[in-house]
Amino acid sequence: AAQEGFDLSDVEGDLAAAGHGPLPVLAVVGRPNVGKSTLVNRILGRREAVVEDRPGVTRDRVTYEAEWSGRRFKVVDTGGWEQDVLGLDASVAAQAEFAIEAADAVVFVVDATVGATDTDEAVVKLLRRAGKPVVLCANKVDGPSAEADAAMLWSLGLGEPYPVSALHGRGTGDMLDAVLEALPEAPAQTFGATVGGPRRIALVGRPNVGKSSLLNKVAGEERVVVNELAGTTRDPVDEMIELGGVTWKFVDTAGIRRRVHLQEGADYYASLRTAAAVEKAEVAVVLIDASESISVQDQRIISMAVEAGRALVIAYNKWDTLDEERRYYLEREIETELVQIQWAPRVNVSARTGRHMEKLVPAIETALAGWETRVPTGRLNSFLGEIVASHPHPIRGGKQPRILFGTQAGTRPPRFVLFASGFLEAGYRRFIERRLREEFGFEGTPLQISVRVRE
Ligand code: GDP
Ligand code: GDP
Repeated sequence: AAQEGFDLSDVEGDLAAAGHGPLPVLAVVGRPNVGKSTLVNRILGRREAVVEDRPGVTRDRVTYEAEWSGRRFKVVDTGGWEQDVLGLDASVAAQAEFAIEAADAVVFVVDATVGATDTDEAVVKLLRRAGKPVVLCANKVDGPSAEADAAMLWSLGLGEPYPVSALHGRGTGDMLDAVLEALPEAPAQTFGATVGGPRRIALVGRPNVGKSSLLNKVAGEERVVVNELAGTTRDPVDEMIELGGVTWKFVDTAGIRRRVHLQEGADYYASLRTAAAVEKAEVAVVLIDASESISVQDQRIISMAVEAGRALVIAYNKWDTLDEERRYYLEREIETELVQIQWAPRVNVSARTGRHMEKLVPAIETALAGWETRVPTGRLNSFLGEIVASHPHPIRGGKQPRILFGTQAGTRPPRFVLFASGFLEAGYRRFIERRLREEFGFEGTPLQISVRVRE
């Protein structure tokens, strides 16, 4: 039979293969040609994934990993299944039954331009009996004039029909918001930066900027709550330090405390250690020696944190040594050398005197808040609509690329996907990022923006 092999264990196998804990499962069901595959591709944010299947070939992969608003889940696509073997109604019913077994929630896709058919009604009965949460997708609502078709589907008794154009993206954001509400909560796991426990800070910077001095200053030996000393001396040590009434985990502090002086390859090991610490952390505090010129090495460490997608705070240390002239030149240097991270909160500290130590925690909290900011789809799109109207992309070769729709696909750091009618130039992307920051904050966090061109 066509459905051979499509049982629950397939889904579990896929989950295990993906190397993740259990994620909630969403099934997309409906009659053939209502647009299930198109919708799944839209959810996955790519066009090619599902359509690759040749007819008559049983697919060995039915689940895909998706993410919406920072939550990950599995999508079970039933779109490519053979219908011929069982006959149309039986096949669609079998899909729905599979979905009922495997899924935590179901998107039931109906072609709004056709309306509810007998086959659709049969699936509704199955869905209702199962009692799983159902989101009703009224597909092929490509424009406002088709909204009335969607409203007709209230008659199915599945609640609000979400008018959607899987093809163009219209309405999919609101529908997915409803899907997230229907799905049970799943642990957010982004880049191994798992949620829970004390927030993790990487204190990084090139040698002699004052990392160990700062660590000692903020910790004060007696306030080190736990010393997670691991088995071997080579292991990194994470220290729990209480600051501002909150316990923070400073990761990989062994290399800071133990002043290992490696003769050869010291830079190499230092940068490996920095990369590892940044990877483990949620926020990087990059320490810069304000008494010296900003160096390539400082820049490299900042880039590491930005590229790893971590929240970022810049701390200019040794402020006690600065005279007026140096302060003036430092500001000029920051303007020219660090213009690309103007969004990072800045503190001017002295590990020696303790100057402005109390500003460190608020800066870290600001950066983490920016890192976790989520913009609702509706707000994002009204904002994008205003930009497109007031600052359209320059015309190139007689064409004017337009942003059609955008969505925040994740947080920690915020990730945006913009759907556009053509290639967006780098300058225009930077402009969008700047405007996003002006509008929504995002202080202390890198932003990841990708553009998908809809032909
Ligand atoms: P499935 O086999 O039921 O999953 O349906 P498909 O994804 O293969 O889509 C069937 C046909 O409907 C394709 O030609 C799609 O391009 C078209 N289609 C899908 N979604 C939409 C939509 O929102 N609007 C319009 N106009 N056509 C759509
Ligand atoms: P690390 O290699 O980044 O851990 O740097 P250290 O903490 O070992 O500091 C390197 C040198 O800078 C030491 O001699 C410190 O005493 C000195 N130092 C650290 N912080 C400050 C500061 O805020 N002001 C001044 N004047 N010296 C500092």
